[in-house]
Amino acid sequence: MGFQVVNPADGSVVTEYEPAGPAEVDAAVAAARAAYAEWSRTTPAERSAALTRLAGVLTDRADEFAQVEVSQTGKPIRLATEFDVPGTIDNTAFFAGAARHLEGKAAAEYSADHTSLIRREPIGVVGSIAPWNYPLQMAAWKILPAIAAGNTIVLKPAEITPLTSLLFEQAAVDAGIPAGVVNVVAGRGPVAGTALVEHPDIDMVSFTGSTAVGRRVGAAAAGAVKRVHLELGGKAPFVVFGDADLEAAARGAVAASLINTGQDCTAATRAYVARPLFGAFVDRVAELMAGVRLGDPTDPATDLGPLVSFAQRDRVAGFVERALESGAKAVTGGGAPTTENLAKGAYYQPTLIVGAAQDSEIVQDEVFGPVLTVLPFDTDDEALALANDTPYGLAASVWTRDVHRALRGSRELRAGCVWVNDHIPIISEMPHGGFRRSGFGKDMSAYAFEEYTQVKHVMLEVTGVAAKPWQSTIFR
Ligand code: NAD
Repeated sequence: MGFQVVNPADGSVVTEYEPAGPAEVDAAVAAARAAYAEWSRTTPAERSAALTRLAGVLTDRADEFAQVEVSQTGKPIRLATEFDVPGTIDNTAFFAGAARHLEGKAAAEYSADHTSLIRREPIGVVGSIAPWNYPLQMAAWKILPAIAAGNTIVLKPAEITPLTSLLFEQAAVDAGIPAGVVNVVAGRGPVAGTALVEHPDIDMVSFTGSTAVGRRVGAAAAGAVKRVHLELGGKAPFVVFGDADLEAAARGAVAASLINTGQDCTAATRAYVARPLFGAFVDRVAELMAGVRLGDPTDPATDLGPLVSFAQRDRVAGFVERALESGAKAVTGGGAPTTENLAKGAYYQPTLIVGAAQDSEIVQDEVFGPVLTVLPFDTDDEALALANDTPYGLAASVWTRDVHRALRGSRELRAGCVWVNDHIPIISEMPHGGFRRSGFGKDMSAYAFEEYTQVKHVMLEVTGVAAKPWQSTIFR
């Protein structure tokens, strides 16, 4: 029975495919292993040239990538054309450059009798698993540093959004990257994903997705002693101190909580606002949220699309219903829209929640929808403690005009990225990755590139004498 890719804007079937099983995973891993022998011996300049050509192919096909991404995710076309696709092209160009800039220690005589040198080598065949929220970007974040460093890769995209990953695989071939270097297998997590993670010929597992699945993937990788890289969930706090620019903070909170319909691992999800600003902040955020236009994702006038699926919409609705039942209040939103054109899609209204308890589910758990909670605080110490009070640690922001508060927030917030007076921007040169239950390992940047290499120490004896001084431990 085929698996359907469904357009969440109207429930129509985009395409149907036969999901890969263990046999297809085996074949892809074998292709990646076969390609590794040659690809790992290409020069950095050759890999750089290949990635530069790939950036060109992606640029030529930008419109096609954007349209397919919109059809399988429901994200607004403006987001796809202004963020997902250009971000992917820029990442490709970045790793084309990074391929030629692996750095390490100078060769030296750390022991008087030996010259030591460091080799940074590829790891082998990488098995990667990606989520559905930014299918193209997540595929690129996995594939690019891996192949720039000389590895080959088998990527399993999320089963509901495989299409732009498959287009990316084709673009790599069309850019002249040898067949077998980039392999995409579209299949279900528990079947194809498990087969990939447990495959004996996979040397490294790189996973982006929920903390619950990441825990399982990490355990399987640990059992087989494979290198593992986990980019997991987030629950980013958004701290507005009493001296903040209120208008900037309110606009920031709306944009950062609604981007990609809130299905962003770094999205602002919990705003903590100094009590004197609380009422004005809530009013302004509610006003801005109410002005956001939900609609057809292919229409450039649309600000917010549906959730990625009807199941995800129902999951978000469940979180909000339970919060309201336990005494929280929706200042705006709080349900699915009922207008005829939106009711046939997986839409949910931008929702602002006040009065939720800090230890409640909606404040602690990842909702992954267009929902922001706001709570007041009285002191800076309390704000930072509340912000750090979830198991996650992917991203956070502080809003202030006081340099000391900015520096203190940057230091004390336990997250892999802290923004000051902004929330969401990412850039190819800088790392993206979590602390705590948000995982470990970095995507993007030279830090990601290094993670797809392993360090080898080569030690050359330089005296040429038969009786080495250290052998006195054996030979008197
Ligand atoms: P998910 O964990 O349900 O699925 C992620 C991937 O894992 C999918 O490809 C899925 O098929 C696969 N999978 C499921 N079960 C598996 C198993 N038993 N073995 C192997 N693979 C399996 O996540 P999702 O719902 O697709 O994506 C949303 C999640 O991703 C959110 O938690 C979000 O925060 C996270 N995310 C994190 C980052 C980051 O950089 N930290 C980026 C994007 C998304």
